[in-house]
Amino acid sequence: MFRPLSLKTFLPLKPPLLMRSKSSGTNNRLKLANKVAVITGSTSGIGFAISRRLAQDGAHVVISSRKQTNVDHAVATLKEEGLSVTGTVCHVGKAEDREQLVTTALKHCGGVDFLVCTAGVNPLVGSTLGSSEQIWDKIMNINVKAPALLLSQLLPHMEKRGQGSVVLVSSIAAYLPAIKLGVYNVSKTALLALTKTLAGELAPKNIRVNGLVPGIIETPFSKVLTEDTEYAERLKRVYEIRRFGQPEDCAGLVSFLCSPDASYITGENIVVAGFSPRM
Ligand code: NAP
Repeated sequence: MFRPLSLKTFLPLKPPLLMRSKSSGTNNRLKLANKVAVITGSTSGIGFAISRRLAQDGAHVVISSRKQTNVDHAVATLKEEGLSVTGTVCHVGKAEDREQLVTTALKHCGGVDFLVCTAGVNPLVGSTLGSSEQIWDKIMNINVKAPALLLSQLLPHMEKRGQGSVVLVSSIAAYLPAIKLGVYNVSKTALLALTKTLAGELAPKNIRVNGLVPGIIETPFSKVLTEDTEYAERLKRVYEIRRFGQPEDCAGLVSFLCSPDASYITGENIVVAGFSPRM
């Protein structure tokens, strides 16, 4: 027999202890009010834009990346905008850094509702079969293993809230493998599978897992492509919307995926590329 779920099932068990800056004190009507987001690789580019947007939509955001100066700068910039953020160094490949990220989120915010895994690397432009074991390990460790390991560290705390949303950042290279980015292509395709797999595993815990699949977005990471004007013009001809993306083009989707409007969406990998590479 169908038994309606109680409202309690969908609400956090305990409201988070938020440290809010002054202008975000009236955030209760915002769609992510009283929520806490942990975001990796969030001091630049796509991760930074996501951090800003989730904070503008009411969440308290825990910023992180490898370099303290980048964390300090990102936190100061968003605080100046009146947003509620805190930060810590976290190299996602280091277990002790991931633990520190979890500790920071719990200490400052009392829990975690959202995890956005943006940190990703591509240390090599070259052939797949010419890639050393070290290159394979680095790319797979940072891009694929680290999001899963960080989520396993955060999971007990997300479960306590009774619901949650996770967004993994893949790449258009997962669908259209870029020549000379072989191992990176493979890692980003693995992330599509990780999204689907975790979505199934975590659905009974009311934690949704979706994937953001960016096309070419203008950031320091993609400079080598976007600043090569001839190549850039050629690439833009492939795009149905004839421009490169901006980090903000990705941020709204992530805010939506974290919001109650997406409460019945899980296991989706959503392309933000100005064209669609699939049916
Ligand atoms: P970005 O502007 O270069 O930013 C990368 C961010 O990640 C920085 O905050 C960097 O800060 C941090 N980071 C790098 N390695 C890290 C590590 N091991 N642990 C923790 N943080 C780390 O790059 P982006 O373009 O926004 O790329 C973000 C993600 O989007 C990546 O996963 C990338 O694969 C994906 N993506 C990008 C594009 C694009 O066209 N830009 C397209 C498809 C997918 P620190 O240096 O301080 O660590």
